[in-house]
Amino acid sequence: MFHLEVSQLHKSYGETKVFEGIEFGIRKGELVTLLGPSGCGKSTLLRALAGLTPVDGGQVRVAGEDITWQEPQKRGIGMVFQSYALFPNMTVWDNVAFGLKMKPQPGRELAASVKEALELVELTGFERRYPGELSGGQRQRVALARALVVRPRILLLDEPLSALDARIRRSLRQQIREIQQRLELTTIFVTHDQEEALTLSDRIFLMNKGSIVQSGTPEQIYTRPASEFVASFIGSPPMNLLTKAP
Ligand code: ADP
Repeated sequence: MFHLEVSQLHKSYGETKVFEGIEFGIRKGELVTLLGPSGCGKSTLLRALAGLTPVDGGQVRVAGEDITWQEPQKRGIGMVFQSYALFPNMTVWDNVAFGLKMKPQPGRELAASVKEALELVELTGFERRYPGELSGGQRQRVALARALVVRPRILLLDEPLSALDARIRRSLRQQIREIQQRLELTTIFVTHDQEEALTLSDRIFLMNKGSIVQSGTPEQIYTRPASEFVASFIGSPPMNLLTKAP
């Protein structure tokens, strides 16, 4: 059975269809990237899964439970945004603890949970700093710790690396993959960057104009593109990008 299952999901703003007939399943512990050009509906789809944008129809199920109309904080979904979305007037510690104050974990001590989340993202020692005293990569690791501290059932990452320079992007990409695999976290990673998708994913869902036009492993997408759009969007990265490691 799939851990996350989406059926016939659709969303419009007035006359504009943002996405339509979205269907997919993601296994527990799988990392899927949602890849596609700007404006194809990736962010809106991710926000709909998190409950931040109401859908017009369809169903979202996690571990068999229908969460389509559940409040965002009750879904057990952690989300990380491109813009970090940290509170500038709170320390690293308080930013991470905020996730738990919104959703207390029965039987788990707040301090121990925050410590563990900061260890995971290798920010032990930075507890008393403010976001303004951190680099972009460090800020994004705080945002990741805040999402992880509630032990989410699903992790959603919306272009989390796009604001960072190439070197930091590569190392944080690897770190995200390691944490995701260690925690066996079911994850959707949104990107418009083909290389990122090809190197990071168990599977890629390629989107265009509000539909998933092809899904498969990086190898399948790269070697057997189902349409000219897919072939031209994926381009011709060197074959050594198709190894499993990020
Ligand atoms: P992507 O993440 O792939 O760049 P988005 O999901 O941000 O795409 O946007 C998909 C389409 O939905 C775009 O045409 C965008 O203009 C439109 N859209 C997104 N949010 C809104 C909104 N709040 N009101 C109206 N149109 C929107």
